[in-house]
Amino acid sequence: MEILENEELGKHSTFKIGGPAKYYAIPSSVDEVKEAIEYAKDKNLPYLIIGKGSNILFHDRGYDGVVIEIGSKMQIIERIDDLNIRAEAGTSLSALSNYAANASLAGLEFAAGIPGTVGGGVTMNAGAYGGEIVDCIQSATVLDKDGNVRVLQVNELDLSYRSSIIQKEDYIVLDATFQLIPGDENDIRATMRDYNGRRRDKQPLEYASAGSTFKRPKDNFAGKLIEDAGLKGYSVGDAQVSEKHCGFVVNKGNATYSDVKAVIEHVQKVVKEQFDVELETEVKIV
Ligand SMILES: Cc1cc2nc3c(=O)[nH]c(=O)nc-3n(C[C@H](O)[C@H](O)[C@H](O)COP(=O)(O)OP(=O)(O)OC[C@H]3O[C@@H](n4cnc5c(N)ncnc54)[C@H](O)[C@@H]3O)c2cc1C
Repeated sequence: MEILENEELGKHSTFKIGGPAKYYAIPSSVDEVKEAIEYAKDKNLPYLIIGKGSNILFHDRGYDGVVIEIGSKMQIIERIDDLNIRAEAGTSLSALSNYAANASLAGLEFAAGIPGTVGGGVTMNAGAYGGEIVDCIQSATVLDKDGNVRVLQVNELDLSYRSSIIQKEDYIVLDATFQLIPGDENDIRATMRDYNGRRRDKQPLEYASAGSTFKRPKDNFAGKLIEDAGLKGYSVGDAQVSEKHCGFVVNKGNATYSDVKAVIEHVQKVVKEQFDVELETEVKIV
């Protein structure tokens, strides 16, 4: 497997921020994932698994270890029977939704516009427009810390709002199987178009970002609290609370890690002071 050196992480993050990873591996199989981990262990370095980097803020200093992308080289999707589809962890969620639509299978329409991978989606229990991974996943194959490949059923994945056993146990998602329901391709595609249209209307897709920066606090919305706190458009350098959707911190051009971090911390402080609500980041800060 080719392992790149000093690979700029900004190229692998939808925020377009991040310095070089000392090593960057793109495995194409389970064996190569294991090989990349061994490589890190041999060099006494930490490793970090990423998918499409659509929920990560990398540091400008980069990552002094091995970044392992389970993405572009692990994208096989297969229909395993009438209602079940299995996808390798690097498959994009939009490709998975499209595959299901082509097969006239409903249940994954919500994922059509989420710019991550199946692996990242399972890890984050990604969701939108009333749907979540937990609603349609049947099982996932994972690699545990001892190097064992295990199949976890949906109840064992411990999926809840933006949380999963994958995060708690540092499992690595290798593939996932989804159980869908028969549907009409035209209806499925109409729903996908509707959701994507709503995204374009509401979200600042013209700027680099990592989607919603903060988790939804109990009985409230992060974007609303931030707007009510008067923070719409608040910026440090090129990092800004989006004027279109206050739940997004966007990179207007050359924002650095520190700019984004400063905006996040200011927002957290002001929202806490004004509303006594602790905003927790949804974005993973590396
Ligand atoms: C414009 C925009 C819109 C978005 N809209 C939504 C939305 O509607 N709903 C939503 O839920 N999210 C949304 N997101 C956030 C993001 O797309 C999701 O969290 C997505 O699931 C992350 O997938 P990824 O492959 O990019 O993961 P990454 O960002 O690469 O990683 C996210 C986390 O998962 C871990 N991880 C990734 N792959 C694996 C794997 N194979 N095994 C183990 N751990 C892994 C990483 O270590 C990291 O902790 C949006 C982001 C953007 C930029």
